[in-house]
Amino acid sequence: MSCLFCKILKQEIPATIVYEDDSIVAFEDVNPQAPVHVLVIPRKHISTSLEITDDDNELIGSMYQVASKIAKDRKVAESGFRLVMNCNRDAGQTVFHIHLHLIGGRPMNWPPG
Ligand code: AMP
Ligand code: ZN
Repeated sequence: MSCLFCKILKQEIPATIVYEDDSIVAFEDVNPQAPVHVLVIPRKHISTSLEITDDDNELIGSMYQVASKIAKDRKVAESGFRLVMNCNRDAGQTVFHIHLHLIGGRPMNWPPG
């Protein structure tokens, strides 16, 4: 398995883990785009949002709940934050194991670039 995030899950590549449970892990993005930039991923390998199935509905919901918990812990819940899941080339997806970007701690533009 050559997936970068699966390697992080197997501790073959180091990461700064900020949350983990039976189904989800969250860690600091190595190239942060804001004061808070955490990636929330499922332990299950799912390549893109296009591969999410009914079996994953609870898992995906839990990813959002974990992201919100971390946003509260990092004190960006009230000021605001963005949750982004990029899919494929035009969105700029570079790691093909789904992940929610939790980005906060500064004002952001809309629409995104
Ligand atoms: P995306 O472009 O949506 O696929 O996002 C991939 C994210 O993974 C980028 O924000 C990268 O900075 C981040 N990233 C890449 N390699 C690592 C790593 N080894 N540890 C933590 N984050 C990483
Ligand atoms: Zn993977």
